[in-house]
Order: sequence, then structure tokens, then C-alpha cells
Amino acid sequence: MRQRVLLFLKKVKAFIKAPNFACTQCGECCSRYMICVTHKDAYRVAKEYGLNPHDFLDCIIPEKSVEETYKGVPRFLGEDGKRWVLCFKTNNENSGCCFNNGGPCSIYPVRPLVCRAFPFLWRRLLHGHKFIFNSEALEFCKGLGAKENKFDFESVARDMIQSEKEDKEYAKLVDEWNKLVERKKIKSPSLDSFIDFFMKTLSEEENEL
Ligand code: SF4
Ligand code: SF4
Repeated sequence: MRQRVLLFLKKVKAFIKAPNFACTQCGECCSRYMICVTHKDAYRVAKEYGLNPHDFLDCIIPEKSVEETYKGVPRFLGEDGKRWVLCFKTNNENSGCCFNNGGPCSIYPVRPLVCRAFPFLWRRLLHGHKFIFNSEALEFCKGLGAKENKFDFESVARDMIQSEKEDKEYAKLVDEWNKLVERKKIKSPSLDSFIDFFMKTLSEEENEL
């Protein structure tokens, strides 16, 4: 009971002022969450590490119990008529991200933009954007309570602005794909054909530059 009260007090305090944070790269956060990605997140990983995106991408239909978490995340149409969320595959233990091996992220330099703010959340508030501490992290993040704060708010804010831009681009691309599927212009809509569609679009865009 005392433990729960302490945790509650800690959480309340955290809402007022987040504790110091310095990531230890323990990988705990990466073993807990399903990582939704955009076309550009996937493209960067594929390019930087010479990986085939079909090998590390997956798609899900979020369960009703977590539906709220996926609010606003674009969903692409599959041949079953269902709408899917693009994400990274899970690791071998079937929990968390496939790039997590119980330690530092294996694609750290090009990790998805969504991974970069943790244990904070970048939220649009009344007067612009703000980092809000994700109090769930108190239960497992070893980097919290560090002597010195090493979270670089400025640099992560830049990543978050980039993330907003790419989220919009991704939403547009998914919309385009869904219209093509609805008009039956795509013969076999699937995760694989969706990946091919956006990889082709992005590599054409890159060639034009
Ligand atoms: S991509 Fe890297 S940082 Fe993001 S969840 Fe996976 S292992 Fe963690
Ligand atoms: S749980 Fe905390 S310390 Fe560990 S990798 Fe994630 S952010 Fe860093």
C-alpha cells in the first residue's frame, strides 16, 4: 500500500516537474511498446543499414482496449478491407521492438522519431507545444532520477517538429494509397505492396532532388 502511495506521490510530483533524466540505454522502454512508424522512419532504417523493409515492418489492428492510443494514426487499407497501422516487427520474445536486444537500440542513429522524446511526450497545448512527462516511465526507466539532467529538450524539440511534418506527409500518402485501393487500382493490397508503394515513392522523390 505504502509503495502505491509513494508511486502516486511521485507521479503527481512528476506532473509538476519532471525528474532529472539521463538515458542509460537499458532498452526497457523498447521492450514494452509497439512502435508505430511512418514511411520515412522505415526508409531511413532501410537506407542506413541496407535492410529490406519487408524484413522489419509489420502491421496491426489495435485492440479495442488501446484504441485511444492509436487515435489519429493513419491506417492503410488491405485486401481484407481492414485498415492497418504500420509498425516495427516485435522481437523474438514477441514483446517490444525488433531492434531491441535488451540493451541499446541497434538502429540508434536513425531510430524512429517517435522513439526520441521518451520518457516525455510532445503535446500540442493551448499556448503551443510542450514536453509532458510520461509518468508510466517511473515504473521502469532507469534513467530517471539521474544526478544531472541530460535530456536535450532543444534537439528533441527539433526532432518533434520534423516528426509532425513527416506525420502529415505519411497521412497524405496513406490517403492516396487508400483511394487507389478503393478505386481498385491496386490489384492485391497488402502490407508488402504498401511497403513497395511508399519505398518507390520515396526513392523517386530522392532521385528528383
Ligand atoms: S527503434 Fe530503437 S529506440 Fe525505438 S523502440 Fe526500437 S529499439 Fe527502442
Ligand atoms: S527505459 Fe529509460 S533509461 Fe532505459 S532506454 Fe528507455 S529511456 Fe533510456
